[in-house]
Amino acid sequence: MNYETVIGLEVHVQLKTAAKIFCSCPAGSGGEPNTRVCPVCLGLPGTLPVLNRKVVELAVRAGLALNCAVSGFSKFDRKNYFSPDLPKAYQISQYDRPLNDSGRLEISVDGEVKRIGITRAHLEEDAGKLVHFDDGWSGVDYNRAGIPLLEIVSEPDLRSPREAGEYLKELRSVMRYLGVSDCDMEKGSFRCDANISLRPSGAPELGVKAEIKNLNSFKAVERALEYEESRQRGMLERGETVLQETRLYNADLQRTSSMRSKEEAHDYRYFPDPDLVPVVLEQEWLEEQRRSLPELPLARLSRFRKEYGLPLHDAGVLTAERPLADYFEAAAAAVDSPKALSNWVMGELMGKLNEAGLAIEESPVPPGGLARLVSLVEQGKISGKIAKRVFAEIFESGGDPEEIVEEQGLLQISDRDELEAVVERVIGENPGPVGDFQSGKKAALGFLVGQVMKATGGQANPKLVNQLLHSRLS
Ligand SMILES: [Zn+2]
Repeated sequence: MNYETVIGLEVHVQLKTAAKIFCSCPAGSGGEPNTRVCPVCLGLPGTLPVLNRKVVELAVRAGLALNCAVSGFSKFDRKNYFSPDLPKAYQISQYDRPLNDSGRLEISVDGEVKRIGITRAHLEEDAGKLVHFDDGWSGVDYNRAGIPLLEIVSEPDLRSPREAGEYLKELRSVMRYLGVSDCDMEKGSFRCDANISLRPSGAPELGVKAEIKNLNSFKAVERALEYEESRQRGMLERGETVLQETRLYNADLQRTSSMRSKEEAHDYRYFPDPDLVPVVLEQEWLEEQRRSLPELPLARLSRFRKEYGLPLHDAGVLTAERPLADYFEAAAAAVDSPKALSNWVMGELMGKLNEAGLAIEESPVPPGGLARLVSLVEQGKISGKIAKRVFAEIFESGGDPEEIVEEQGLLQISDRDELEAVVERVIGENPGPVGDFQSGKKAALGFLVGQVMKATGGQANPKLVNQLLHSRLS
């Protein structure tokens, strides 16, 4: 029998606000344990939470970008459970009236656009963190307690581990474009739990699902889902029953193992939090948020393809992060060939930035400088080889590419007479390869071109050298 894989993801995005969601403690990561706490986020008796307005704004912008129905009326509920890192023994979350309802995210899988439903995107507070020490005891750090989270729940619309990976990448890209979160999976500001089940192909009802936790990288999500997919298929093929349970992923062993049977919503005894008033949004304010959304990555990708004639791969790389897309556009305004520029950005520029551990915003070569360099190559004034040398120089110590080319006399030699003389000399000095070429070994020409380039310090126009050698030897 053929089985179909059904995957839904729950993603917790840490919202980038200065203060926590219900108190004024700082929300960023870091700080000595339990130094970013107050009576409110420690859940001391008699304290009252007050909602941070900025949290609502970021969550609404995220909801609008995910095409959600943003509710003009939402409220907070208590999700009851005990854990040492949850001082109130309940988490303030949203249950039946979430801020953002039923949206969708479009993802691109092999160039095909697929629409993934978003069930909801609701607000909640983060819990603290348990720290386990080597000598057998544990401590609790409440700095994280009360940091605002947006939980984004997808519909079970994903059909393979790879699609799940694409969805996560797109979601992260959108959140980062909006500036609502850093979405750093390693630092825990972007966390994912995955639900996966299998069903006979074409069956209308869903199979029994497992929820996988402890996924802390994109690779881990895909690997865990691949493992779980084959584990469940094996069980179904042997006629065994898949249990609804929560499973933990072990990245070292690359496998999942059972943690506990899956809890249901009613286990949490949700009820409205009496300490918080409902959130009522004005239509006018909502429209203002909608109008001020930036162009989102997938829209920008298709515009890059149309406007600059870039291949899918280039457009995808360049638009994945907003600052990189901005850099490209600033430079593209000043070049004739956007594709040539794209090659320079994705190759030389990103290579050097990675080497130096710099972000694109910190690039020592400004967009205008790169554009002038690419134009010099495009206009045949310098060779690609010389351009790389000039690029390395301006990356290291700044300067203007045109001035450097001028000062160091690097202009490409496109003068026929001058090059013919060099070609003549190289032919005279290399009778072996010349003979090889004339007896049919076409590859020998490459060697001769290389000799001419060497003799001119890389400044000869390689196209012209090729032509000259060809006509002289044929
Ligand atoms: Zn606090």
